[in-house]
Amino acid sequence: MKRAIYPGSFDPVTFGHLDIIERSSKLVDELYVAVLVNSAKKSLFSIDERVKMLSELLSGYDNIKVESFGGLLVDFAKEKDAKFIVRGLRAVTDFEYELQISQMNRTIYSEIDTLFLTTSLEYAYLSSSIVKEVASYGGDISHFVPESIIPLILERVRR
Ligand code: ADP
Repeated sequence: MKRAIYPGSFDPVTFGHLDIIERSSKLVDELYVAVLVNSAKKSLFSIDERVKMLSELLSGYDNIKVESFGGLLVDFAKEKDAKFIVRGLRAVTDFEYELQISQMNRTIYSEIDTLFLTTSLEYAYLSSSIVKEVASYGGDISHFVPESIIPLILERVRR
């Protein structure tokens, strides 16, 4: 069984994330989308809310599972017997950080490899922060996120 983990904050999930999820799920037998608990980042949605949103959006895929995780990513990988981490690259600015993290992960767990998928061009500019920024000013976010989660985002940024 080839298993991969796609970790992220997903606060909220965007079309850019969903594109990486869909493409990487075809490369492996099982894909775990892992919502990482990151206490350093102030978040719009709780971990449970993010897991719920992703689970609903991905319910049609048999080989994708959504879970949260609060420790070292390689420990989650060991727990799931996953040998690949999936990350998306949008621009050079993502690369430096991602390179460092992937080398660190391989140093502490030599069996793990990171697969980098480059963003689909139409989502190259897209990030969760941009969604929150536009939504907070009442802008149209339908180009960025699935319709079903738009009301949740609008309700939350209005608070
Ligand atoms: P993190 O806080 O771990 O960066 P994010 O939820 O922001 O979590 O992103 C998770 C992963 O998805 C990262 O690998 C990021 O580079 C990738 N990603 C985010 N937005 C896009 C996008 N528009 N296209 C491709 N990959 C993306």
